[in-house]
Amino acid sequence: MTATRIRKRASHTASPKPGYKFDRPILVVEDQKSTAEYTAALIKGRWNCEVVMAASFRAAKEALKSTSPAIQVAICDLNLPDAPYGEVIDLMNEYGVASIALTGAYGEELRASLNKKGVVDYIPKDSVNAYEYAVSLAGRVQKNYHTGVLIVDDSLSARALYKHMCELLRFRVFTANDGKEALEVLKQHPLISLVLTDYAMPEVNGYELTTKARSKFSKDKLAIIGISAVSDEEISSNFLKCGANDYLAKPFTYQEFLCRIHQNLDMLDLIQANRDAAQRDFLTGLYNRRYFFEAGTQMYAATKKKKQELVAAMIDLDSFKGINDQYGHDCGDLVIKHFAFLLDKQLGKNLIARIGGEEFAALLDETKLNDACKLFEELRIKVKNSVLDFGGAEIPYTISIGLCNQLGETIDDLVKGADIALYKAKNNNRDQVFVLD
Ligand code: GH3
Ligand code: MG
Ligand code: MG
Repeated sequence: MTATRIRKRASHTASPKPGYKFDRPILVVEDQKSTAEYTAALIKGRWNCEVVMAASFRAAKEALKSTSPAIQVAICDLNLPDAPYGEVIDLMNEYGVASIALTGAYGEELRASLNKKGVVDYIPKDSVNAYEYAVSLAGRVQKNYHTGVLIVDDSLSARALYKHMCELLRFRVFTANDGKEALEVLKQHPLISLVLTDYAMPEVNGYELTTKARSKFSKDKLAIIGISAVSDEEISSNFLKCGANDYLAKPFTYQEFLCRIHQNLDMLDLIQANRDAAQRDFLTGLYNRRYFFEAGTQMYAATKKKKQELVAAMIDLDSFKGINDQYGHDCGDLVIKHFAFLLDKQLGKNLIARIGGEEFAALLDETKLNDACKLFEELRIKVKNSVLDFGGAEIPYTISIGLCNQLGETIDDLVKGADIALYKAKNNNRDQVFVLD
């Protein structure tokens, strides 16, 4: 039996720059075909992430050996035809893969044995939303590999315990003995998204740390969770008043720890996703007009200060109305997405945006006008030679491009120059790059 790899959506219809890009597939080990397919569909729907499916222990082993880049997270059915006693978890451990166990059986003994083996979580299949939860957790854990957590506590044993829990969840863990050290670590590691801090510590205590960290990092960029003793309610409320996002009351279970930490990180992600959505065009995933001029204004100012060159480009699809008229609006949308994909591939390292219906813009700050001209000429030819299939029909299309490197007084002057060049390209029979002289 072999593992099957399911790719995410066809690349030219995918958003070129989504908020978070999963760079590795998630492994689903499940012998029941319909359950495996349901789980894979949930993963793709929720995370737009590739899935590798394995229907047996043997297939799982093969998948771990052959998948590149290596698998980091797996959702595992514990009862497989060739491994009925949860042996799949040992296999995952052997490969350093974080495993989320799903099982039809249930019992304290099983839970204890799985905890000992270090599964991320153990989910009875008959619990409400078992698969939704498993999928949501799998994506979260995959993100945790790139997420830093800073543990601040003067007690060595407490630090070791929280560190162990964080490592089970696959975080990048940093530790500090007190608030003063923590502020240093925070300064050095921008990867840190969450601070877990005790209250009573030498030098700088938990409240002071929270207040100082908050003056540098807002609540939607860095989550701070204060740890208090159950008996001392004042500590929790004081933490919140100092700017903490949340608190955990000691003693807490691993389950409480997992839920609270993930909930706070999910909130940061949600805010970031909203921020991304406000900057991006829904159809193509490229930046929108607003963001283009915001970021462009900063680039423009930096260029002027350093007395460097800046090239603006305006790009417009040719006779696009004709495509809509002949093949319909859906086809027009596909052409726009297709072009966004080619533009991103050719010039994605620069600031590029969809600034209107079939109008795109770019700003190139480390490129001479001549080189920019070559890059856009290449893009024009790639577009002209591309074969775009719409329900069996081949849709040809072309683009016109206007370039300008005359800075003028404001970014608007520069972009206006590119617009004039575009107008000339259009009047000159389209399908060409025109440079404003
Ligand atoms: P030119 O070569 O001079 O640029 O001609 P054109 O037909 O491309 O330009 P025109 O401005 O006459 O028409 C642009 C059309 O693009 C009109 C509009 O309905 C269509 N359009 C704008 N936004 C979208 C969109 O998001 N999807 C689709 N399918 N069409 C769009
Ligand atoms: Mg089974
Ligand atoms: Mg047009």
